Formats: sequence, structure tokens, C-alpha cells
Amino acid sequence: MVVLGAGSAGATELLPSSFVLEQEGRPILLIDCGAGVLDAYRRQYQQLPEAVYISHPHMDHVADLEKLFIAACFNDKPAPRIYVPAAIVPRLTRMFDNHPGQLAEGGANFWQVLQLVAVDSGFWLAQHNFRVTPARHHQLDFSFSLSLPGRFFFTADTRPIPEVLHHLAAGGEPILHDVGLVANPSHTGIEDIKRDYDARLWPRLYLYHYYAEKDAALMEAEGFNVLRPRQRLILPAERASDVVTA
Ligand SMILES: [Zn+2]
Repeated sequence: MVVLGAGSAGATELLPSSFVLEQEGRPILLIDCGAGVLDAYRRQYQQLPEAVYISHPHMDHVADLEKLFIAACFNDKPAPRIYVPAAIVPRLTRMFDNHPGQLAEGGANFWQVLQLVAVDSGFWLAQHNFRVTPARHHQLDFSFSLSLPGRFFFTADTRPIPEVLHHLAAGGEPILHDVGLVANPSHTGIEDIKRDYDARLWPRLYLYHYYAEKDAALMEAEGFNVLRPRQRLILPAERASDVVTA
């Protein structure tokens, strides 16, 4: 898992939180696509993403979908697939599908140039069975975690979700968790982590979505793992029982 950005919506010196899942050195899934993420992705891989997972429709996670749409309009490659939890498809469509004025030349539909894949509890990609579960962010059915059991759990923007992590991330996998120095009604703070999670879980947490590097350093000083841009997290190997052969 490659970290492109680890910042919050208010961060000025950090890219918005975004990750790339690689397999055998190839990028297979971009996770979230806020402002500046697409350029970072292109610098890293010299191509457009072929698949993107959108966790929720806040601009710091979706803004560059517009840029991706324009780039894909003039690209002869297959349409990038955009995996979107079904509950947020209407909102995302209202945000981006400015029919008919989206492209100056006309003739382009948003969910055609970018291929919408609406998902509920999960989806298949590169023969992996990804799981999608509701997080606790901002409002009901708004933000959705993404995971591959035993390999990684990405919380997406969320308040603490002990009822989920203690049951669905029980395979020793690293947990990429939204954490800032100070909690607010939509995000987790470092004090929430200490109160709501069993201390045995703490070493598996990799914190992201913070405001500034100085906050990262303070959380690190408390003994937590903190993710930084360009960092590469090596995930546990797939168990034989998880491997799906065609
Ligand atoms: Zn958010």
C-alpha cells in the first residue's frame, strides 16, 4: 500500500488522504481522489488510474474525479472503473454530472467516460474480494471503509468503529485509521483511540488524515504508527484460502 497523501481537508502542507494498492509492483486500485491526488498518481505511475475506490463524497476525497474525467475523455485507454458505495451514488452524480455542459465539445457522459461500478457489501477486483462496510462520518450511510480480510483495513473518514474493527479486522492486518490530534464530531482524535480501542489493537493502527506534520510527530511521540506521503506499507501475504483462481 503506497501513501499518496495523509492530510485532512484543512491541511495545507499535505495532500488529501489517498492510497494506492499495488500488486506485484503494479497499481491496481487508487483509494480516494481529492485535489492534487491525480497529479501525484501520474508522477508515481506515468499513467491514469485504471480503478478508483471512492469512500465518501467530501471534496478532499473526490475533487480530482473531474480532472480524471477530462483526462479520460482524451485518452484511448479503457474507461477507468470507479467503485462507489451505492448509497452515495446519487450525491456523487449530482456533484459531477453537470449535463450537458461537462465537456466543452459535448458528447460525453460522466458515468461512461468514468465507468461507475456501484457496490454494496463488496466487489471483486484482480481476483480479490474487497469488503465495503459503513463507517461513522458526518451522517448515516455517508462514508465506507474498504478492506481485504487479513491484509488491510482502511477505515475511511470516521469516528471510532470498535464494533467493526474488533470483529472484521481480527486477522492481524494493518488498520489505516483516520486520526487527527484532536477529535471532532466527524473524525477520530488520538484520545478516542486510547478510550475506544483495546490497547492490543494500537500497534496495528497506522494513522492518517491529520492536519500537519507537527501533529504527526506528536502522535508518533505517543508511540503510534503514523503514515506519511510516499511511504510504502508492506501488507501481510495472502492466505492460501483467500486466493481465488480463475
Ligand atoms: Zn470526510
